Amino acid sequence: MSRRIYRQAMHKGRFYPASFGLGPEACAAWRSEFSFDLPEIVAVRSDEGEQGTTTKMVLRLQDGFEVESVCIPMGRGRHTLCVSSQVGCKMRCTFCETGRMGLLRHLTTDEIIAQLLVARHRLGLPIRNVVFMGMGEALDNPDNVMQALRVLNDDAGLAISQERLTICTVGHAEGIRLLLRQGFKRLNLSISLNAASDALRSQLMPINRRTDLAELQSVLMAYRPRRNFALGVNYCLMPGINDTQADAAAVAEFCRPLGRGLVNLIPYNPGSQPIARAPDDAEVERFIGWLRAAGLPVRERVTKGRSVMAACGQLGNPDVRARGRLRAVTIP
Ligand code: SF4
Repeated sequence: MSRRIYRQAMHKGRFYPASFGLGPEACAAWRSEFSFDLPEIVAVRSDEGEQGTTTKMVLRLQDGFEVESVCIPMGRGRHTLCVSSQVGCKMRCTFCETGRMGLLRHLTTDEIIAQLLVARHRLGLPIRNVVFMGMGEALDNPDNVMQALRVLNDDAGLAISQERLTICTVGHAEGIRLLLRQGFKRLNLSISLNAASDALRSQLMPINRRTDLAELQSVLMAYRPRRNFALGVNYCLMPGINDTQADAAAVAEFCRPLGRGLVNLIPYNPGSQPIARAPDDAEVERFIGWLRAAGLPVRERVTKGRSVMAACGQLGNPDVRARGRLRAVTIP
């Protein structure tokens, strides 16, 4: 009985016992064991594109912090929800708006799941895939993220298959090892590479000073949850920074020992303090050509949601840090 109610609650987005026709005693038992309130929707912004509408939603959590999630159209009626796992992020990637906020706090499992429930049940968005690529480094919040994966994947609940779930990481070595031990055999994993020389990557992504490319490569070579696993390698192309033929050759060199994989080329989306301009089509095509000539499968990630600051690297509000009421709980 309880699993049937759980399933219905997840599928219909109703979390009040009376809505299931339960008697007063059962309602009281429910309330004593379980409470779940969906976060308030603060803003919804949409951007029309060729493949459909990209929707960014801003949600207010119970303690007043706000997180952002983006629903991305993937064509043929399919949508991917890009969820946040933290308020802010301590990784401080230089090209990312969230990185400028610093880490304010981890999201709890229910706050991660709530993003999907709000998108589906409050906004009516048909979500098929979930990718942990919103605000925060998912593997820096492993307990809540792994539990969220279990809830998303649970047959009795949301029942989203592992093939439709993706963890994206800057290359958090301990997190990747931990993820492997969880036994999610069909889960997707992608890393943000963005540079394949230690000097440049350390400049763009401070985590590289702790886990250099050689260590990251060896952790990824050991990540084999199934025989036909294919790693996603995200590369954000920034003109004048990481867009030369030598950069492409270094990417190919890094990827070669990793086995099956796909490079997702993401044109840089300038945020509030851009470190480069957005590349033009010719620059993107040229870089893709170099990667393909080096034998790498490459897909260009079409930019969606840039006009509403919903594209990759544009989530987050660095001004949050300046608000005194939030500063007190900042994690160093
Ligand atoms: S790119 Fe990801 S890991 Fe890097 S600062 Fe932004 S949210 Fe954090």
